[in-house]
Amino acid sequence: MSSPNTPVLITGAASGIGAACARALAAGGRPAVLWDRDERGVAAVAEQIERAGGVPVVATGIDVADVSRYDDALAEARRIVGRIGGFVHCAGIVDSTPMTEVPLAAWQRVFDVNLTAFAYGTAALAEDLIALPDSAVVAISSINATLGQADIPSYSASKAGLLGLTRSLAAQLGRSGVRVNAVCPGYIETPMLRRSLADARRGARMRGDAMLGRVGQPEEVASVVRFLLSAEAGFVTGSTVFVDGGVTASDRLGSLD
Ligand code: NAD
Repeated sequence: MSSPNTPVLITGAASGIGAACARALAAGGRPAVLWDRDERGVAAVAEQIERAGGVPVVATGIDVADVSRYDDALAEARRIVGRIGGFVHCAGIVDSTPMTEVPLAAWQRVFDVNLTAFAYGTAALAEDLIALPDSAVVAISSINATLGQADIPSYSASKAGLLGLTRSLAAQLGRSGVRVNAVCPGYIETPMLRRSLADARRGARMRGDAMLGRVGQPEEVASVVRFLLSAEAGFVTGSTVFVDGGVTASDRLGSLD
């Protein structure tokens, strides 16, 4: 079974899970278009991939909340790599403000980055995705889409929204041959989680919540994303895949509290 070698757009590619996805997909021969608001960071990841050799890479400094920039940024990318046949929306932010205190602008910002960017990114790519064979997109959601954690209401809601949006887009694009899936990572060792993991008690709880008794690595999420974008997953669409070491299936949640 041959996998597509069409270019993939990856947002949040300067760090953590996004950077790991970029490396994994490029290593599998797929040209990569990397977006991140961290311009220097995303250029560094692109340089690293280019040094490893093989595929063309385009890196763009862009705030994904600014959907008005998508058409120009994509036109520029297409000039270098051609039409784009895959999309991984990995850019994400957390706001740890309780619901009674969160300002509207902060609430909306989380939705713009985590959820709206996936909707409008997929829309901006739809023509390419439909035109190319075996196209697929993946939303990086979170276990917080299904677990209730008190201090991150906007994050939880935006990540749950991604699961509904994934199913809606899968229904809309399925007959055109485009697959749409979501991945829910558990606790993954990235800069986003570094502070929590450095706290002895919180770190121990995160490890203890997983059936595997450890946190995950970004590469362990990236390998599942690569699978979902490949022809091996040709009959998988509208699905949510948990890559969480068993956290959501466990009866031990928060057992150290
Ligand atoms: P990270 O902080 O290492 O990477 C996030 C990247 O997104 C950064 O490079 C950042 O610059 C970029 N980004 C943020 N806002 C942006 C914007 N407006 N425009 C463009 N780029 C932007 O975090 P990570 O852990 O790799 O997280 C990646 C995704 O995985 C996020 O969507 C996150 O919610 C999700 N996730 C992470 C974990 C975890 O435990 N680390 C768990 C579940 C879900």
